[in-house]
Order: sequence, then C-alpha cells, then structure tokens
Amino acid sequence: MTPEIACRFGCAFGQMLGAGKTVVMGRDTRPSGSMIAASVSAGLMAAGVDVIELGVVTTPGTALMVRRCQADGGVMITASHNPSPYNGIKFLQSTGPGLRAEDAAKLKDIWQGGDYALVDGPEVGQRTENRETHQAHVEAVCKIVDVDLIASKGFRVVLDSINGAGCEVTPMLLSRLGCQLTHVNAEPTGRFAHTPEPVAENLAELCERVRQAEVDVAFAQDPDADRLVVIDEDGNFIGEEYTLALAAAAVLRKQKGKIAVNMVTSRMIDDLAEAADCEVVRSPTGEANVVQVMETEGAFFGGEGNGGVIEPRVVPVRDSLAGMALILQYLAETGQKISQLVAEIPCYVMRKTKLSCPLGAAEKVAAATRERFAGRDGASFNEDDGLRVALPDGWVSVRASNTEPIMRIFAEARTADFADALVAEVSGLAEDVLAGES
Ligand code: MG
Repeated sequence: MTPEIACRFGCAFGQMLGAGKTVVMGRDTRPSGSMIAASVSAGLMAAGVDVIELGVVTTPGTALMVRRCQADGGVMITASHNPSPYNGIKFLQSTGPGLRAEDAAKLKDIWQGGDYALVDGPEVGQRTENRETHQAHVEAVCKIVDVDLIASKGFRVVLDSINGAGCEVTPMLLSRLGCQLTHVNAEPTGRFAHTPEPVAENLAELCERVRQAEVDVAFAQDPDADRLVVIDEDGNFIGEEYTLALAAAAVLRKQKGKIAVNMVTSRMIDDLAEAADCEVVRSPTGEANVVQVMETEGAFFGGEGNGGVIEPRVVPVRDSLAGMALILQYLAETGQKISQLVAEIPCYVMRKTKLSCPLGAAEKVAAATRERFAGRDGASFNEDDGLRVALPDGWVSVRASNTEPIMRIFAEARTADFADALVAEVSGLAEDVLAGES
C-alpha cells in the first residue's frame, strides 16, 4: 500500500461520489495509517470531495460518524486483524457498512481506468477535523443497555485492546458502565503485542492473566475493534462463535423478530432464536452481505460467528463495544457467571478445512455435494454462497474464498465425530473433482 496507490483510490472514490460531496475518514493505530490517510485525503480533495478527518478511531466509530455527519460515504484505514505491516482502505456507504459488491466493482473499475475526473483549484475539497467519535459511540452504546443496572454490579473486567483503535474509546465505555478495568495492550501504538487476530492461540497470555486474578469476564478486540471475543471468569477462551450467541441471548430477552447471520455462523443462534420464537435468516459471508440481508428482511439484530456483533440501534456494522455492553447487560440481568451463561447455550462442534481451488472447481464440488446429500433425510440446501447443506443434526458448507484461490469446507454438528465425518465426506468429493481437473 504505497501513497500513490492510496491517492489514486482517493481520486477514484471521489469521482464515484462526485464533486461537492463529503467523506468521513478514520484510521486505526497502525504506524502507516497517518501516511495513507493523508494520501487518500489528497485524492478525495483533488476530486472535489470534502474530507472530515476523525483521527484514530474504530471501524464502528467511523461508520457511526458517516451517519451522524450525514456524509456521502466513509473511509476507514485499517487492515483489521492482520499484522502491523499490513494496511488497507475500507470504503463505506453513507449508511455506514462497507460498499456493496456492485459498488466495490465500480470503484475498482474507476481506479484501474486511471483517468480521474479532477477539479480545478477553486473547487478542490476542504479538510476539517472532528474529534467527537468516541463520545458519540459511547453515548450510542449506552442507549441500548441499562447503564445503572450494569454499573451497580461493579464488574471486574480485563480488556485486551491489542494496541489498536479500541484503546481509548473502550475504557470510556467500561468506565460509564461502572466496571473495574484492567486494561492490557492499552497503548494505541499500532505495534501489536501479539499476533492480532482474536483467536485462542493468540490469547493464551490473556487467559493466564484471568486465571491469576479475580475477574468476572475478559474481552479481546482486534485492531480496528469491530471483532470481540470473550474469556470466562476461569480464564477459558470460550470461542469466537459464542460472542454473537451471548449477545443474541441478551437481546432476545427483550426483542422479537428476525436475526441475520452468514452461512457459516454456528447453529447455536438457531437454537436461541427458536427458543425465543424468532427466525434466523442467512446471508452470504461478508459483513456487507449480512447488513444487506438485515435491511431487506427487516432484521433487528445480526452478525457473524467470527466475533462480529451487529446491533443496528448503535450502528449497522460489527461493533465490539455494542457486543461488550450487551454481554455485561446479560450478566447483570441474570446474576449468573459467564461460564454458566455459556453452559446454557446448546453446544456444537465446528470443523473447518481449506483446499486449493482452481477457478470453477468450488462450483463443481458444490454440485457433487448437492447430488450426494440429495436423498438424505431432512436435508435442505442453500445456494446463496457456494452450497450449505442443513441436516437435522448439523450442516456442511463448501464455497470459494473471495480473497484467496482456495475453497473452504466447514461443518458443524452435535458431536465431533459427525462434524469430522461431514468434512471428510465433502473433502473426499473435492479431491475427486480436483483429481479430474489435473
Ligand atoms: Mg476488524
């Protein structure tokens, strides 16, 4: 990601929106963020677009400010859960979420075309600063929970912000919620203390710290603070799928309606929704797809099993702060320990594998899988994103990755044996297809 590439993306996004429009821009803590933000800003202004710079803020914070400033679009400079040397540019719709696929393709075409419609000197866009993001975000999150109830519990919370964009705003929220906070990796340097993806193997130290202390719950964020994972009071990493399940269990106590999740989110959500007489609708993977289905289906809540909680009353993108507040609310309302709340949720085993995938191979594997499972009792099929086969005791999905030349095979079942068997069966079909290709 060079300044030249970033500037051209600024020009292209500016051209797509049109001169006279306004864009809100935030960045995470990565050392290259300031340089890339300056380059993207220059391109946008050259195309006649005004830029409101938010400084170092979270991805949900930027999305929130796009709406609050009534801007025509947003830009977030982040490489999310990837290591510090990486960086990227996320383009946001005026409603907050990332661009829809057709708009992303349009932007790419303009970018590749290279002959940008730049304006003359007097029409060049102007740059202003806005430092209200954190405050606005905390206020919005506090509106969806009972602040006094949570604060009355004085929860002892350990938080790992991985030296990212969550470092400043998250303690503001937890302080409002009356928590006694132990904050680790709290300096917003962008030099990440451990591999930043919030998954079990990167959080062993955090779990150990919780084991050594008297703690009610621990949270870990990714560098742009859209993803959240939870560690219980005994220091057990309870799995990123449980973040959404716990937050959903919290909202389902008070709200009814549809919940939107992607194809490969755990069936825990179906069980929770069914018990509350609510419906789950599934979207293709990718946050923008979940949000799109939330809009078309009128879902009141949504998310992804990677620790992505989407609470549209705050902002319609994944938001670790909304997730934390809902889980704290759940703890406060029930008076139970986090491990007890986890134990109440029906348990599944998920298995994931990936195989290399020449162009078109995933479609052939999906077709073979459909044929294989067509006669099975209770099998139903969803082909909105590869193939997902739902069975009475589990599901299996196969789809091509959007970002790498691989296909992903995921399965989930009540037992490890059945989940393993489902992955093995579809992997076998995939190997037959790939052998036929070569
Ligand atoms: Mg992220």
